[in-house]
Amino acid sequence: MNLYNTKSRTIELFTPLTEGVVTMYACGPTVYDYTHIGHMRKYIGDDILRRTLTLEGYNVKHVMNITDVGHLTDDGDEGEDKLEKGAKKEGRSVWDIAAFYTDYFHDTMAAVNVLPPIIEAKATDHIKEMIALAEKLLAEGIAYETAHAIYFDVAKDPHYGELSGQKLSDKETAVRDDVVIDPDKKNPADFSLWFKRVGKFADHSMYWPSPWGDGFPGWHIECSAMAMHYLGETIDIHTGGIDHIPVHHENEIAQSECATHKQFVRYWVHHDFLNVEGEKMSKSKQNFYTINDITARQIDPLATRLLFMQTSYRKPLNFTWEGLEVAGQQLKKLQKFAAHHTQQGTVHDSYMAAFTVGLADDLNTAKALATVWELLGDNTIAEADKWATLLRFDAVLGLGLDAVEKFTISPEAQTLLDARNTARTNKDFAQSDELRRQLEGLGYEVLDTADGTKLY
Ligand SMILES: [Zn+2]
Repeated sequence: MNLYNTKSRTIELFTPLTEGVVTMYACGPTVYDYTHIGHMRKYIGDDILRRTLTLEGYNVKHVMNITDVGHLTDDGDEGEDKLEKGAKKEGRSVWDIAAFYTDYFHDTMAAVNVLPPIIEAKATDHIKEMIALAEKLLAEGIAYETAHAIYFDVAKDPHYGELSGQKLSDKETAVRDDVVIDPDKKNPADFSLWFKRVGKFADHSMYWPSPWGDGFPGWHIECSAMAMHYLGETIDIHTGGIDHIPVHHENEIAQSECATHKQFVRYWVHHDFLNVEGEKMSKSKQNFYTINDITARQIDPLATRLLFMQTSYRKPLNFTWEGLEVAGQQLKKLQKFAAHHTQQGTVHDSYMAAFTVGLADDLNTAKALATVWELLGDNTIAEADKWATLLRFDAVLGLGLDAVEKFTISPEAQTLLDARNTARTNKDFAQSDELRRQLEGLGYEVLDTADGTKLY
């Protein structure tokens, strides 16, 4: 398949390092707040990528982290730890906060049928690996220690900034000067590998012993350490949001490659933003919608998958409730089709090929979806073959069509249907209409066809 690589800024033919196996690391959530639709877009995007690779025959080793320490309110290592801030705000322990929002994340992912990663790695469970990586960078002379932290020295990395194409000199001017900077930090763009439990972090509640005293890891080193621990020093695919490119991922590359002297990631995949009703998501607009907002409107959360697939993952997506309602109706159509089909025929080769060609075109999900509707509308194909093909598509669409409850006619409805057939035979149309209303009242659609009356 072809995949856009942020690093080369081109669409490349994807080939994994090891034949048949894809190592994929996905940046995961920082668990200090509710998972919202912006997050859902990213993880559904990862899920579509993983499912597509699986359909292509690869064994995908998908690892995702849970950041439960070290992610500061400013990605550039300034401000407070997000978890500590959340705990203070809610009057709970950081461990409680992490557990609560991790559960919420899991519930959201289950509701939108995102496959759990093969390994979900919590940052707090991998402190040892992070310390080892920081030690290695210190030994290489790429990192240095101050009274406050262990920093990565960006000036020592000639490749720093290549992912975003940002020059170090541009970055320095972009750093805000109103934030408290460690006076011993050599370069404003240097980032922390390890924060010591001193100064503004003297009361930090999550901390671990290290060769540099008690402290906690920086956010960036977490992903490098866990990715390499589980997937090796060079991984095939690393995903994230486009906001991760200039700092988080730039830093991940720097610290990983300076430690191993090997390429860290072969393909960088970044998901674009989600806007709401044409505007950026923001606290003041209260448009951080969650799965609860979706179910409160009686919309099946799985409709988000159909909605998101209409836009390329590399383009901004404008979320509207109207758009989600429409996607919900489309989902119902597919679910209805699934409910009425049990017998599986043969997968239709040319539709299957059109579907995979769409996905192989840098995950052109809109093209793949168009194939779905084309298939359903094609009257030359046997229903059983359509169902078999749709089920195969659903391995990527992830709409759970195989789990849709099969259509049955209740005994009560059967009695009404029989009575209506009798009324029709007797040309008692008033009675027939009344019985139709009663059947519709039970939730059935009544279709009078050439083969007699059918319920849906
Ligand atoms: Zn990350």
